[in-house]
Amino acid sequence: MLFLASSFGRSIAHPKLGTVFGIMMQVRSHMQITGHIANLTQRLQNTFTQTLYVLFPMPNTRSQTLAETIKRARQQPFRAVIFLRSEHKITAFLETVLHNRAVANGTQSLHVILHRQLQQVTQLRECLKRLHFLEDLELILPHLSPPRWVRLLHDLRFPRLDLLRTNAPHSVVATFLELHNDLVYLSIKACGRTRRPCPLGQMQLGNLRDASGPLGCIVTLAQHSPVSRVSAQLSFVMDHDPVVTSTLTLTLLMVADNITVLELEFDPTDVNVLECIASNTPALRSLKLVKIKSTMMSRVSHRRAWKSAEEWGKTLRRLTFLQNFALCTSIAVTPIPGDIDREYRLVSQWGGCKTPHPTLRHVILWYLYGTLQDHMTYWNRRWSDREHCWSRWEQTNRFDSPDSSLFV
Ligand SMILES: [Zn+2]
Repeated sequence: MLFLASSFGRSIAHPKLGTVFGIMMQVRSHMQITGHIANLTQRLQNTFTQTLYVLFPMPNTRSQTLAETIKRARQQPFRAVIFLRSEHKITAFLETVLHNRAVANGTQSLHVILHRQLQQVTQLRECLKRLHFLEDLELILPHLSPPRWVRLLHDLRFPRLDLLRTNAPHSVVATFLELHNDLVYLSIKACGRTRRPCPLGQMQLGNLRDASGPLGCIVTLAQHSPVSRVSAQLSFVMDHDPVVTSTLTLTLLMVADNITVLELEFDPTDVNVLECIASNTPALRSLKLVKIKSTMMSRVSHRRAWKSAEEWGKTLRRLTFLQNFALCTSIAVTPIPGDIDREYRLVSQWGGCKTPHPTLRHVILWYLYGTLQDHMTYWNRRWSDREHCWSRWEQTNRFDSPDSSLFV
């Protein structure tokens, strides 16, 4: 009688084995056995096998499982920046911080970015409760209801936190900020309120320098906070009304007159947008204008804010500290897209040739985005020590597949 020992029964049906009368099989876990038995039974149907021995492992006790978990957690290396992009990763990270204080205390920057709805709010909350030295917190949790956001963040306090980036409703953000009013950087998404005033309007954040979010909410926030870097998007339906948009933009520029870096979504039919910026933000160093997406606009118009390049050049020269200027639009900014001579003429008018802009050095054009001709070009100008004058504008980079991270 031939007995064959096999851990998984993989070689049972090999023709060179000849006649097999008995099999001894060891499995690694009880979970494996059902599939293996079914597989073996099928393979052995036409053989002479009469005996099948299956050796089961001893089941792990609860204390053995815990010991393995602790051992695994303590082997995890320390990392200051943690990215969690799935619920499974959150579970694993909780296991680590529960048993490894060095990892919990060493985490300075936590980024939880999910693409599906979070199921286990408690698990993430338990993770957060153990991160006492967190400085940056990013929570992008789609479709999470306001009550579950409250459950997640209720009474959590991070003494060193200075950056918060989240898609939480602003009522939840406002409550969270009451315990974190030293925040320096705040990036928020949709408000969650369309009729009542934004809850952030009452906040006083004495150290807030950098704010990013819907224009209407950023305006209210900027009234009581010394923001100098602002990124404002038009995400409310009411913001798409040109009158409301230009009023909100003007209000923002008036209340935050020390802005040095501004990224603004704007309506291309608003021909006064640059004039408004030049009149109210004299300290501006970087300006990025992003044309509102056409799907957001209820009407089609052929007016273009930048139609008169000469006027834009004059207005830009009034921004005497401006070094970087970027325009992003789905519309062609030159009659022949991609024509370097035409782009040069446009950039030269903005930056000035005979009367050059005193400080402007970098211009970025990103146009026709969302179309097959989508491209971005970088234009630079250098100061020549030898000739004591500015060089001509030169195209230094061209990206055929640009993305917003390149559009600085
Ligand atoms: Zn809001």
